Amino acid sequence: MKDVKKSEFIRSTIFVSIGLMISLMLIILFSRVVTGISAKMTYDTTLEVKKNMLYEYVNNMIVFLDDARDDYLAEHPDATEEEIEKEMIALAHEKIYMEEHSDGAYMWVQKVLDYNGGDDYAIRLIHPNLSDTEGCYLSTNEVNQMGMKAYEIELEGVKKDGEIYQNYAFKKLDSDEVTEKVTYAKLYKPYDWIICMGVNLDDVEHYRLKAAENMMSYQNLVLSAVGLTWLVLILFMLYIYKRTGIDRVEKKNKELRNRLNTDAMTGACSRSYGERLIKEEYAAFREGKDNTLLFMMDVDKFKNFNDGYGHDVGDKVLKSFTEAIKESVRQTDHVIRWGGDEFIVLMYDIHEEMLKTVADKLLDSVRNIRIEELPPDVHITSSVGVSYFDPADADYKDIIARADAALYRAKEAGRNNWKL
Ligand code: GH3
Ligand code: MG
Repeated sequence: MKDVKKSEFIRSTIFVSIGLMISLMLIILFSRVVTGISAKMTYDTTLEVKKNMLYEYVNNMIVFLDDARDDYLAEHPDATEEEIEKEMIALAHEKIYMEEHSDGAYMWVQKVLDYNGGDDYAIRLIHPNLSDTEGCYLSTNEVNQMGMKAYEIELEGVKKDGEIYQNYAFKKLDSDEVTEKVTYAKLYKPYDWIICMGVNLDDVEHYRLKAAENMMSYQNLVLSAVGLTWLVLILFMLYIYKRTGIDRVEKKNKELRNRLNTDAMTGACSRSYGERLIKEEYAAFREGKDNTLLFMMDVDKFKNFNDGYGHDVGDKVLKSFTEAIKESVRQTDHVIRWGGDEFIVLMYDIHEEMLKTVADKLLDSVRNIRIEELPPDVHITSSVGVSYFDPADADYKDIIARADAALYRAKEAGRNNWKL
């Protein structure tokens, strides 16, 4: 029995553990996926914001250039295109070098000399980060660090749509770290300029890490909660397992106690238990408890039932006798089978003036017993010897002996009566 319970406990523990393990893995998987999605969303949003910023700045620059060109022409109506362009370069140069942008953003300008591309297809006009390359020729054949022909892509883009976004990774010059950059290039047709602006996407990585970090702390929280739940569940199961074990032992002990304390056939208290009860009551009496008394009851001519109707009917008489007595006394009183057809009823709180009523009630209840195997005119009767607990008694046995003597007198007096 115990082994079965133990294996049940082990099996449930394994089930719970596997269940929680699977949920843990699902949580980790889920949070990884969510982290990935949220990082991608962060990246896309940031990229979009940066692209818009580049578009705004470059197009503002074009508006600025158009206005500057109109102003210059108004002041110098005879100026040649070369003069105008020279002035525009100076203005753009000044504006670009002056402006400061966040995230390492800056603008640069090159002038297309040959829309077919190739070496010397363009000349660098303004580049605040590589100012010493201003005036250098550029080639569409140039391959950047990442193996891309960025100039060629840019030229084809502006030829086709007038503008182009490029998004590429750069290895940083001084380290192996790769940074991402997004650029926007727009053709400024009047002078064949390509006005470009680029911005680092390094901080996107920062956002991405931050999103992952948030998700990780969320994930850790959930994992801790699941772990804790697991622990509580296991402890609870352990408690239940222990508890049922304890309950089982307690139940068995109780059964055993009941069996020892009860007379199997009649259901009355056993003699040993009864003796203990009387002893306890005697001790209580010694400490001041009042009006406790014993009824020693014996079935009259019980042998006749055995001899006349059989031992089974005799047993039935004893059972009915016990039931009848139990029904006519209080729940707190005790009915003890003292041996054979002899019973002791231990009662509390019966004043002497009540005694006759109680005793007569007991005798009546016995007389009223009906057993189908017995002819209707055959009645069961009982003789009763009563004794009160007495301060003069040296022992509880004295009380029993006195009740016994009274019972003897009741028998002598013709049975079916009680004597004090
Ligand atoms: P009295 O009125 O003097 O008490 O007469 P009596 O016949 O009852 O005499 P006694 O008390 O001596 O008889 C008790 C009988 O009860 C003796 C025994 O065979 C019988 N007896 C004892 N225990 C049991 C039992 O468990 N079942 C049955 N059927 N009979 C029992
Ligand atoms: Mg008898």
